[in-house]
Amino acid sequence: MKAVVSLNSGSSSIKFALFTVDEQGLPTLSAGGKIEKIGIAPHLEARSADGVALLERDWADGAALTHADLLRDLFAWASDHLDDHEVIAVGHRVVHGGTEFAAPRLVDAALIDKLDALCPLAPLHQPHNLAAIRAIAELRPDLPQVACFDTAFHHDMPAVASRFALPRTFHEQGIRRYGFHGLSYEYIARRLAEIDPVLASGRVIAAHLGNGASLCAMRAGKSVDTTMGFTTLDGLMMGSRSGSLDPGVVLHLQMQLGMSAAEVEELLYKKSGLLGVSGLSSDMRTLSQSGAPEAEEAIELFCWRAAREAGGLIASLGGLDAIVFTAGIGENHADVRSRICRRLAWLGVEIDELANAGDGPRITVPDSPVAALVIPTDEERMIALHALDAAKRITGTVMPVGGAQHLLA
Ligand code: ADP
Repeated sequence: MKAVVSLNSGSSSIKFALFTVDEQGLPTLSAGGKIEKIGIAPHLEARSADGVALLERDWADGAALTHADLLRDLFAWASDHLDDHEVIAVGHRVVHGGTEFAAPRLVDAALIDKLDALCPLAPLHQPHNLAAIRAIAELRPDLPQVACFDTAFHHDMPAVASRFALPRTFHEQGIRRYGFHGLSYEYIARRLAEIDPVLASGRVIAAHLGNGASLCAMRAGKSVDTTMGFTTLDGLMMGSRSGSLDPGVVLHLQMQLGMSAAEVEELLYKKSGLLGVSGLSSDMRTLSQSGAPEAEEAIELFCWRAAREAGGLIASLGGLDAIVFTAGIGENHADVRSRICRRLAWLGVEIDELANAGDGPRITVPDSPVAALVIPTDEERMIALHALDAAKRITGTVMPVGGAQHLLA
């Protein structure tokens, strides 16, 4: 029996998911969890697929433990937990694939060098993604590893969507729109194709609304435009990120107010968005329960910005057939969905409030000219599917009938 592991490694945390592979070659979630507070006092927790706690572990004096040390412990626990299942591949979320990578890649020394060279484009994430890849290469040198890029889904966007209005030399240096949340959008595109193939073949906006938030315009399941750009700071208002703002503001902060580049970075990534506008919290649920006028103002701005950015993407798409909500806020927050849909009512988005309060997927009235749906995303499963796909290619195993297109349900 086989298993695959999906890893999402950040600066102070590693999220993981273990999937067993059934007879049809489909991944089934066996356990998932995270290691947090790496570099301070690491804490590991794991849960079964139905949410039962399997493990909690603290390293109170573990400030010196590296990603590699903790991954060694995690793998030891995982092989116990997986019992007689053999781990055949590890898939990693890698934030940046640059201009080269349009699909997941099997890791080798040359790929690691190329991904290393992309660190300046995503200094907050890429080095930590690579740390996990290097740690596993050392721990299990024979285990195939697959890098799955957040940018890859947007790789083939039309040229006009990827160029900033800067002198050409900057574009050639790689200063352009890449887009992110690609694993989530890839999963949504495939799920929508299973749920409603006709809509999936049309013009769709997927709204990934979590702590990080973005929109993706998809035509026939392919990205044609997206709100995040050169970095994950662009586009929508987010939990603690500003999203798009007049670049003149950045100049003013530095040149008139004397803020350093590091202070501006901290302000735009960590202190803005819902947190900055409300002055209370970056968490949408907390704000909805607050009742404070500043919380309401932050929620309203979030929804207005989402609708306004959607307007831009609708122009890129030349119209709209469906909007799909996903991620923490998109999947769970009926009021935010309703506010965004109502702002798009002029387009023909006719929300059905009863359905919106229910279990979905469809939340518009049956004859709404534009459909709205809620589809839970699953980036870990998407990574596992890519890892499994690569493992099958390496071993020459024939894909089961239907192949990767039908692995999601
Ligand atoms: P991340 O980008 O960190 O993965 P998530 O996708 O988990 O973020 O989304 C986190 C956001 O989702 C938070 O603003 C949180 O308040 C919101 N959220 C999560 N669950 C609910 C819920 N049941 N109702 C309303 N909002 C929720």
